Amino acid sequence: MTLSDAIAVGLGADTHRFKPGGPIVLGGVEIESDLGLVAHSDGDVLLHAILDAVLSAADQPDLGTLFPDTDEVNRGRSSVDMAKEVARRLNVAGARILSIDSVLICTHPRIAPLRQEIRESVAASFDIPVRKINVKGKTNEGMGPMGRGEGIEARAVALVERAASEDA
Ligand SMILES: [Zn+2]
Repeated sequence: MTLSDAIAVGLGADTHRFKPGGPIVLGGVEIESDLGLVAHSDGDVLLHAILDAVLSAADQPDLGTLFPDTDEVNRGRSSVDMAKEVARRLNVAGARILSIDSVLICTHPRIAPLRQEIRESVAASFDIPVRKINVKGKTNEGMGPMGRGEGIEARAVALVERAASEDA
């Protein structure tokens, strides 16, 4: 197996709609807010996108399969807890996160002042260095549902090194 066979990219995306009453949780960081996000879990839209990107790159089942919202165990579940479980699965599979990039599309909250804290929190939940994670915010310039302030959208890509396998 060559190096290029061992490295895979994964893409993840998620959207949650605003509801009255906060807080908002982004990348495990709890943000005081008059608005919250409608969700079965804690509504951590950023971690959900990142986790799907990581799982996809690692050739693992997706987030909805691992943590189905039909299962009462997952009601209000902390997404950091899910990230830790995903990190454990990757460990067992011999896969390793090389890099994660992400973007949050929303009018609220402002991401720039939270960026570093969110990076540190995401890195901690996977137990990897902060430099391997990037997060940025976009407002969509007033266009579309996110630009009109109806919710938050997250997109993420992950680069993962998979374990060497016989068949590759
Ligand atoms: Zn979600």
